[in-house]
Amino acid sequence: MTGFRERPVRPGDRLRPAVRNSGSLLVDNIGELVTNCFGAGEGGPLGIRRNAALLVEDGVVAWVGSARDTPAADRRIDAEGAAVLPGFVDSHAHLVFAGDRAVEFAARMAGEPYTGGGIRTTVGATRAAPDDELRATVQRLRTEAMRQGTTTIEIKSGYGLTVADEARSLRIAAEFSEDTTFLGAHVVPAEYADRPDDYVGMVCGPMLAAAAPYARWIDVFCERGAFDVDHARAILACGQAVGLGVRVHANQLGPGPGVQLGVELGAASVDHCTHLSDADVEALAAQRVDCMCAEGGHTATVATLLPGAEFSTRSPYPDARRLLDAGVTVALATDCNPGSSYTSSMPFCIALAVREMRMTPAEAVWAATAGGAAALRRTDVGRLTRGARADLMILDAPSHLHLAYRPGVPLIRQVLHDGVPQCRP
Ligand SMILES: [Zn+2]
Repeated sequence: MTGFRERPVRPGDRLRPAVRNSGSLLVDNIGELVTNCFGAGEGGPLGIRRNAALLVEDGVVAWVGSARDTPAADRRIDAEGAAVLPGFVDSHAHLVFAGDRAVEFAARMAGEPYTGGGIRTTVGATRAAPDDELRATVQRLRTEAMRQGTTTIEIKSGYGLTVADEARSLRIAAEFSEDTTFLGAHVVPAEYADRPDDYVGMVCGPMLAAAAPYARWIDVFCERGAFDVDHARAILACGQAVGLGVRVHANQLGPGPGVQLGVELGAASVDHCTHLSDADVEALAAQRVDCMCAEGGHTATVATLLPGAEFSTRSPYPDARRLLDAGVTVALATDCNPGSSYTSSMPFCIALAVREMRMTPAEAVWAATAGGAAALRRTDVGRLTRGARADLMILDAPSHLHLAYRPGVPLIRQVLHDGVPQCRP
């Protein structure tokens, strides 16, 4: 387990409203409230309460109870019998980049395989882009995600791959998220192609030093064609030594050592997990930690599945059922990036997980909210119980089931972030 050091910057400031709505806000007449707290409702991991209401004070959930029994409040939102869920926690996204790769997508759909090599195309465009262009792209995608119910989003660097470009990518990311991740080890850039040891030395040295003030996490793409296990271990250990938490891109394109490396280093999450051995699953299942809301706690290292990537690369989906049946905690995230998964939509990922990965709708909704929070080691989001942040969505539907049952339909009626109503979609 890694403790996080104090940071010299306050990432996420841009996301906090300058002036919070003062006074209290009651969200009333909720037909189905997903609290994500086992034992808070009628049973099951979603902790569902019927005919509920919820009181927000100072951006935090101050009270949850029956709609027959509501306290007085300064303002009121009538949910009109609809379902209310915690905001989605998207724990894996690459939003700081320039350009797009639509042509590469079309070629893949025409039969070309995905190798990860296209990352270098985005690196070139990102290095050439001014700060304001990168910032505008993050803002656009952040807004797009919020409209689809995402109130917490992790943002990685990884398309700069120079000391200056990685540092500025994270500086910009930190304007939009508290969970920023240094991914200088995304690929070896072209100028270091024949001397990867030198690149790893730079990542661990000056690049980490420049990036760390703006980062909470460190991540490595541990895959054939990217970074081998020795390089990955060295880079992650350097990050841990300066107080960053560990995450790993692991076992996406084929079997490999990434998942077990992540478990060995106490990673909060190993992401992709598309090609797993029995030993990988056993390693993930072996270590559990307590959790205030999940019965029996959750696994210390979460398996974060990114079905948008398999969709967009026409690849076999990860076996979520195998992980869940082994007791491994699963998160769902978008992997939003211009190459292999250009979606910011958590509802889309839920629909894929249910249809293609045999998760139940309840498992998928939990994985996209509480699972994402576990993958970021956050206890203030991903649930709607007293003391949680008032990050929530009101659906245009009576039940969370509709997120998978009505794929592709804009079902998010309203989003509250820190208790502040966002623009309606
Ligand atoms: Zn990724």
